[in-house]
Amino acid sequence: MKLPVYMDNHSTTQVDPQVVDAMIPFFTQHFGNAASRQHRFGWIAEAAVENARKLIAREINADAKEIIFTSGATESNNLALKGIAEAYSMKGKHLITANTEHRSVLDVCSALERSGFRITCLTVDEFGMVSPQSVREAITDETILVSVMMANNEIGTIAPLVEIGKVCLERGILLHTDAAQCIGKIPIDVRLLNIHSMSLSAHKVYGPKGIGALYVRSKNPRVKIIQQMDGGGHEHGLRSGTLNVPAIVGFAEAVRLASEHYGVESARIAALRDRLEEILLSIEGARRNGHPAKRLYNNVNITIPYVHAADLMTALKDDAAFSSGSACSSADLEENKVSHVLSAIGLEDELARCTIRIGLGRFNTEEEVEYAGKKIVTAALRLRDVSPQYQLMTKKKSLPVTALTH
Ligand SMILES: *Cc1c(COP(=O)(O)O)cnc(C)c1O
Repeated sequence: MKLPVYMDNHSTTQVDPQVVDAMIPFFTQHFGNAASRQHRFGWIAEAAVENARKLIAREINADAKEIIFTSGATESNNLALKGIAEAYSMKGKHLITANTEHRSVLDVCSALERSGFRITCLTVDEFGMVSPQSVREAITDETILVSVMMANNEIGTIAPLVEIGKVCLERGILLHTDAAQCIGKIPIDVRLLNIHSMSLSAHKVYGPKGIGALYVRSKNPRVKIIQQMDGGGHEHGLRSGTLNVPAIVGFAEAVRLASEHYGVESARIAALRDRLEEILLSIEGARRNGHPAKRLYNNVNITIPYVHAADLMTALKDDAAFSSGSACSSADLEENKVSHVLSAIGLEDELARCTIRIGLGRFNTEEEVEYAGKKIVTAALRLRDVSPQYQLMTKKKSLPVTALTH
């Protein structure tokens, strides 16, 4: 067993060795520019890109021409939301999203707001669910786009996209979804779900960082997007810039491997997750966040009252790597700011600070889960026992009622 045990697979994943193997020839021998039409180096690179495009498209029941390669889900969310807002602003200037979205959706919405669009940010229930009814009620004659993530990257809750897709279809409104946590984990059918655009990322599914895609529907209806990157006109003009051929090849190989593993891998990781939750929930007062059933099979999000996640992570830095929330938010926020997702599901700040997020993955073993689980429990109990608030609370409990009135 290698320590610390990596358990932060919602942030990123280890690149699968098979993915690395698939990529290497495109650094060494087949280094051509996929846009070079005059020679074999270019043809080989282009063929590899088109193969990758087909494979990723097939995985989500799309056409190859509907896949636009980007640098990742952040860029895809930017391109979709800004690009659609710009293209449809004559029709209306209202967008609908939810308060548990990834920063790369929420911050884009704030930017759009500053340039004259109106945003409705829906609230979610205690499980992090967006209700299709609330989407329906928020739609006005001005609405052009609804953006709801497929699964949340902190609490794992899977959105009712079938129902939301129906609402959008009925009202003739475009639906965008951020599926960064879902590709390779849950089957996705963009036609069935009535999705018009969708963001994907390779590094959440054992592929390389810095590569992703945007699905853009080409018929029924054909979605218009204004490019946010001008240049050589790559990717149908929607995303100029020389294609990252090795990364694209790696992305496709990662998706291929994931779909090959689907059932077996999800069952194995779900069992590990259940075991880890069982260990952690044995702590008195510990509770799970997210939807009990409709959630990603690898997500563990647990609040351990009186135990600050920051202290727990420090105590366990040599044993297990997990997080207190999304890496993307923790990158720029002050120490004390709590996760917007935990606030959205109604957790008060103090409890949000006592919350850990664990994402299990392909390379985690039973041995690792047992080891890390027990280490977390031991450290948490120790930290709790020295917490002044906890001591105060237990003392109060054991005192006769009259003592408390003084
Ligand atoms: C990781 C993640 C992103 C950002 O993806 P990048 O490819 O790193 O830009 C966006 N949305 C969700 C839900 C994510 O989990």
